[in-house]
This record gives sequence, structure tokens and C-alpha cells, in this order.
Amino acid sequence: MFLTQEIIRKKRDGGVLSAQEIAFFVGGITDGSVSEGQIAALAMAVYFNDMNLDERVAFTLGMRDSGHVLDWRDLNLPGPILDKHSTGGVGDLVSLTLGPMIAACGGFVPMISGRGLGHTGGTLDKFDSIPGYSTVPDNDLFRKVVREVGVAIIGQTAQLAPADKRVYGIRDVTATVESVAMITASILAKKLSAGLDALVMDVKVGSGAFMPTYEKSLELAESIVAVGNGAGMQTAALLTDMNQPLAPCAGNAIEMRAAIDYLTGKSRPARLHEVTLALCAQMLIVGDLAANEAEARAKLMAALESGQAAERFARMVSALGGPGDLIERADHHLPTAPIVIPVPAVDAGFVSAIDCRALGLVVVGLGGGRRRPSDSIDFAVGLSDLAELGAPIEFGQPIAFVHANTGAEARQAARDVQAAFQISRVAAAPVPLVYRAVR
Ligand code: URA
Repeated sequence: MFLTQEIIRKKRDGGVLSAQEIAFFVGGITDGSVSEGQIAALAMAVYFNDMNLDERVAFTLGMRDSGHVLDWRDLNLPGPILDKHSTGGVGDLVSLTLGPMIAACGGFVPMISGRGLGHTGGTLDKFDSIPGYSTVPDNDLFRKVVREVGVAIIGQTAQLAPADKRVYGIRDVTATVESVAMITASILAKKLSAGLDALVMDVKVGSGAFMPTYEKSLELAESIVAVGNGAGMQTAALLTDMNQPLAPCAGNAIEMRAAIDYLTGKSRPARLHEVTLALCAQMLIVGDLAANEAEARAKLMAALESGQAAERFARMVSALGGPGDLIERADHHLPTAPIVIPVPAVDAGFVSAIDCRALGLVVVGLGGGRRRPSDSIDFAVGLSDLAELGAPIEFGQPIAFVHANTGAEARQAARDVQAAFQISRVAAAPVPLVYRAVR
């Protein structure tokens, strides 16, 4: 028997908590016997005194076990259960195409995704832009779609890792979000509760990233890989660039259109393509579906070029209630904004820096994201045709198009986009797209 306040005291004084103490505390978070004040106090103690690897694993497993843990074994699926998770970005539509690509290569992807957070877009909001698509199917339908199609992208249910929901809400209002130990546990508890064999984590680096510096992004990637593997799930991570939107567009229905164009081969923007292939290749390797990067990439390109990845996407959309002809008639089904205006460059030269976070906030400002959790979203609005870092720009040339609901909102967004772009006379050295892998 433990005393909650003694556990907090031990961590406050820099001690190492045992797995039993952590399990006791997390049990109390889940059944309500640990108070909000006690959770806040432990969070602050962890923020200052950190957790070692064993503590992080115990905390993660405790939060995983606070709710349902999905189990796919009884389905005898002929392939591994795989997923990817990203720390979030702008124009990052990788999940939309990656799930179907992995399914076409023999993996099974039960992707439980989230909504937009802060300046970042959310996969779930992007799927909500498809009329009829259900992001909250019952468990039987979810399992059926994973089994028959190989991929189902849905939302978090209240039953998965409920302790994390409580802890996160308290961290959010007590200035204790920024702890690598607690971020690791929060992300992995949710991913582990999906019953995955393997996870590839995309940790973003740059002006639109959740982590503030390269060093912090690397620290998080290393922590997630160590704790994920320590908790029995094959885990790898890539550090990828978020100094500019990954696709040249941002906004829910706009990104959904871009994903369809990617899958059909109509348009595969180079940076989006490279990061998608790099993450998918890692998934095939950690899932034992490819022996090496070259084999993985060959399989992935075959899945794209044969149309099999697009077919998986189409089947998933219709199985979850969306239109059967979304790919063929995307413009008919996906909403479009009434006002579309170009954003003229205010200078000539080369794009030398982009405040990627600011661009994400422009989309939120247009109504494409939430200011409060209860806000509804306008799926049609956003940005398209965004100029890339290093691009040569003439004065007055469009650096983006704004998709908005009113002229006034469009003009405000255009000014904000102009302010987010730096244009200088000399081209800056290109930044890497994939900084490194952590295994
Ligand atoms: N995302 C999560 O799910 N949890 C965190 O703690 C931070 C980001």
C-alpha cells in the first residue's frame, strides 16, 4: 500500500519511483482517487526532476492499461499491425496517403488519429471534410475495415488511455506540457493501446514544430524509441523538417484533395513525396515487410503506380460511410471556399525563411482550425500553391493563394502570409528534409 503524497514527495526530492509506485499513482488517476492537485504536483516534480527510462516505461504502460487495449490476435491477420505518429505540423498530410500505401504493401494500419492542436492540422479534421465519413465507427466496424481493407483512420475513443486525457488536461493548465518524459508517455500510451506491433514516429524539427529546438526534437525521438521498444513495441523515429509546410498547401479539404492527387499520381510534390516514402519505408522495415530501404521503396512505388494504394484509400472511405466515387469526383464532394485570392510577394529575390507556425495560425484564423476545443471547423478554407524555401520570387508574384469565406478574412490572411515569408537577395542554403533516423 502506498501513500499518494509520499510518491509525490519522493519525486519532488529527486528520487526514482518504482514500477509499483507508478502503477499505484496511475491507478488513482484513472479511478479518481488521486486529486487534480496531486496530479499537478507530480507533473511539476517530474518536469523538474525527470524520469529515467524504467520510470518512463512504467508510466507509459500504466496509462496504456488505464483503458481498453485493442487486441488484433484473434483476427489472425496475415501481416503486422503498424502505425505512424507525428508530433504535428502544417501541410503534413502524410497520414492520409501512408495508411493506404502500407495496407497495399501487406501491413494493417488501425490509425487512431487526433484533431488539430494549436497551429498544427489534425488528420481527423481532414477526414471529417469528407461527407458521410465516420471517424467514430463502433469497434466491430473498425475491426472489419482494418481486416478487409488493411487500413482504417478514425478518432480517439474515450476508452483508450483515459488516464492520459486527465493528465494532459492538467498539464495543459499547469505549465507542465514541456517534459520529454511526460510527452513520451502521453504519445506512446495512446499508440500502445491500439495494439501495434510496430510504430514509426515522425518528430518534426523547425519553425512549425512542436518541440522548440533540434536538440529537443532529438531528445524526444530518442526517448520515444527507447520507451516504445522497452514497452514491447518495435519503434523507430525520423527527424523531419518543418521549417515550411510539408505539402505546398494547408487546410482540411485542400489537403484531402492534395492526398487524392498524390495517390492517383496527378501531383506528387517532391518534399511531401520524400518524407512519405521515408516514413513508409521505415514502417515496412520495422514491420518485417521489407529487408532494406531499397526493397521498401520499390514496393511502395509499385503500390502507388499500380493504383493499389489509391484503391485501398477509396475502399476505406466508402467502408466508413464516405462517397464511393470520392477519388473520381473529389471536387463534387469536398467543400470549396467562395473566395480565392492570390498573395502577391512584397519583395523580389529568394524565399529565405518561412514562419511555418504563423502559416498554421493563418489557417486557424480563417476558421480551418479551432480557437477553443468546442469550435466547429470550416473545412473549405486554407492556403494553396505555397512558395517553397529557396524559390526565386519576382515582386508581385503570388507566393500563395488564400481560400476564405469573406473578402475581409482573405485580405487579412494575405497580409499575415506576406509577413510569414522572408524574401532576400541571396538564396539560403537548403535545409535537410530528413535529418536523421533513430532506431
Ligand atoms: N501530444 C500528445 O499526445 N501528448 C503530449 O504530451 C504532447 C503532444
